[in-house]
Amino acid sequence: MKPALPLYAASLTALLSLSLSAEPKITTEVREENGRKATYMFIDGVKVHETDPAKSPQPKVVTPKPYDAEAAKAPATATVLFDGTEKTMANWTSKNGKKENPWKLVDGAMESVRGAGYASTKDQFGSCKLHIEFATPVNVKGNGQGRGNSGVFLMGQYEVQVLDSYENTTYPDGQCGALYGRSVPLVNASRPPGEWQTYDITFTRPLFDKDGKVTRKAKFHVIHNGIVIQDNVELSGGTGWAGPHAAGEYRKHGDTGPLQFQDHGNPVRFRNIWIEPIKD
Ligand code: MG
Repeated sequence: MKPALPLYAASLTALLSLSLSAEPKITTEVREENGRKATYMFIDGVKVHETDPAKSPQPKVVTPKPYDAEAAKAPATATVLFDGTEKTMANWTSKNGKKENPWKLVDGAMESVRGAGYASTKDQFGSCKLHIEFATPVNVKGNGQGRGNSGVFLMGQYEVQVLDSYENTTYPDGQCGALYGRSVPLVNASRPPGEWQTYDITFTRPLFDKDGKVTRKAKFHVIHNGIVIQDNVELSGGTGWAGPHAAGEYRKHGDTGPLQFQDHGNPVRFRNIWIEPIKD
């Protein structure tokens, strides 16, 4: 006969996971700000892009794991989107898909060109496992959101922030590894500027009904430099910019979309990018 304690423990675990998976409470209000009306969005009572550490604490800084060359290798089943060659530069196009890859090849990396726009894959993807490596500029310029800013956009929609968050403070829901405006990373596992960093992302796409209502939210599991920073997080809405204190809503889109990297004016580099579709 099983002892009573594990039963009790099991029900407690079930209860805990229930409360953890509860929907976040989202409220909005319109306030006057500098003579204009601005939308303030609150997720579980915390303002989007909250800068007050008493209300949204800075994630703890942790030492990242050493680069794992074995884990970084593309499995035979993966599609290699960029491997440092001219040939794979051609897997990418402009945001609207009409021009050649607007970024440049520098020392085996794809580098953002200020004002040239997003780099977008020609292929489209839905739910997937994705490996990317990035390095923020070694010549540190700017601060906050102005330092080493780029972003990884799944389906051309949902941003995992790329930022130089090494000794650079910004609002936690916009720091490196944030699901922009929606989810603060569990810890800050950033490497110094110029060093190669990894993202291993498992993404489950959202589903919509015929009226455009989301019936299953997108989900992200993000590992930054070997450390889990987004643990199967359900995205409460879109990650688009909707003003200084608000994030965009879900907007119905197709079953697949391109992978895109953001041009935010900083020469951020990417390398070793591969993707594997997963069942959903
Ligand atoms: Mg960004």
